[in-house]
Amino acid sequence: MPNKYEVFAIALVVPLALGVALSARQAPADAALLAKAKAIHEKAITIDTHVDIGGADYATAKLDPGGPTSRKCDLPKMKAGGLDGVFLAAYVGQRPDLTATGFKPAYNQAIAGLEAINRLTKMHPELCELGRTPADVERIAKTGKRAILVGVENGYPMGDDLANLKTFYDLGTRYMTLVHGSHNQLADSSGPAEPMHNGLSELGKRVVVEMNRLGMMVDLSHASAKSFWDAIATSKAPIIESHSGCKALSPNGRNLDDDQLKALAKNGGVIQIVALAAYLKAEPPERTAAIQALRTELGMGGRGGGGRGAGGQAGQARGGTPPTPLTPEQQAEADKRRATYQERLKEIDAKYPFQPATLKDFVDHIDYAVKVAGIDHVGIGTDFDGGGGIPGFNDHSEALNVTVELVKRGYTEQQIDKIWGGNLLRVWRDVEKAAKK
Ligand SMILES: [Zn+2]
Repeated sequence: MPNKYEVFAIALVVPLALGVALSARQAPADAALLAKAKAIHEKAITIDTHVDIGGADYATAKLDPGGPTSRKCDLPKMKAGGLDGVFLAAYVGQRPDLTATGFKPAYNQAIAGLEAINRLTKMHPELCELGRTPADVERIAKTGKRAILVGVENGYPMGDDLANLKTFYDLGTRYMTLVHGSHNQLADSSGPAEPMHNGLSELGKRVVVEMNRLGMMVDLSHASAKSFWDAIATSKAPIIESHSGCKALSPNGRNLDDDQLKALAKNGGVIQIVALAAYLKAEPPERTAAIQALRTELGMGGRGGGGRGAGGQAGQARGGTPPTPLTPEQQAEADKRRATYQERLKEIDAKYPFQPATLKDFVDHIDYAVKVAGIDHVGIGTDFDGGGGIPGFNDHSEALNVTVELVKRGYTEQQIDKIWGGNLLRVWRDVEKAAKK
């Protein structure tokens, strides 16, 4: 899930990415290579560590991931793409209120999300099963069903009560992302420029210790660099980045620099490379400024605003309360503004051309992380249905394309196994072991 500072960039990138999808599609891979990739892909345990579920309609008659949906992740797409397991994230947006008044509705929202994920496994027991341990994942993968795994994105909903972590754990949660796009009671986010705690708060440190005790993976995606370093110092078990990229390739605030990648390797943890275009490849600053100026001119709001009628795809994925319907006049006005916006974007495209990230950029981040952190510390976390998706790997039915690209680049079967799930399962086992000590 992108933070509010990034929604704007995604709203721009998504329509552009769709526009280039056809031209970016590669020529059919050579038959022998494709056969080799398919064989590796089918044998590997393939896991995606970050997909958003959206609102509480998830796993109801209204939105049934057991049948074909318009989502990037549903059970038929996972099956088509040979994806064995997915961490579905109960995401809760950050609100400014860091008191019980703010925590309570956030907690309820997290519980509703966790119940929705559990409901999915009860709706379709013939298609999927809840995985509570790495051994579960291996067993479920052999049955041909999908392993449904659980994460909580944002520590905000646990408030200041450590007992809530046990409730999350009992509902299947095996990682929690400590912080999202703004600071919370546990940690500083990579979003705002000014820190609040200078890393983890005292409560945040106690939460890490409690997560270690329970056997829940500590996820530092979205966290500030100082929060990352504090978590490394505090956690007795390896940590994860469930959906992040490499700063050397794209200077996004929530990507990891080389020192962090090396520290993650030393810690025994793993970075799961995100498939969200704006994190993988930064557009030229002149282009960003020109688009911002256009948005301001059209009254479409700033970076944090999202701007109704400005694309909206990222906004829809955030879940929560749907916007109030527009009157016909407002709708006509919004349509007109969107048309003008698209027209003027073409001028900006011509002046500051930019090709948004594709599958190749995604695998470039994998390559880079492997080079700096080592083959044992890299995996995949798409952020599908939370802004993720790029030409070539735009939903789970296209997961084989990643393996084809890895084979093309010379990765061995053993290395690909590690990237697609082996590393994550090792970290999870280490977290379980540390909990038993
Ligand atoms: Zn996220």
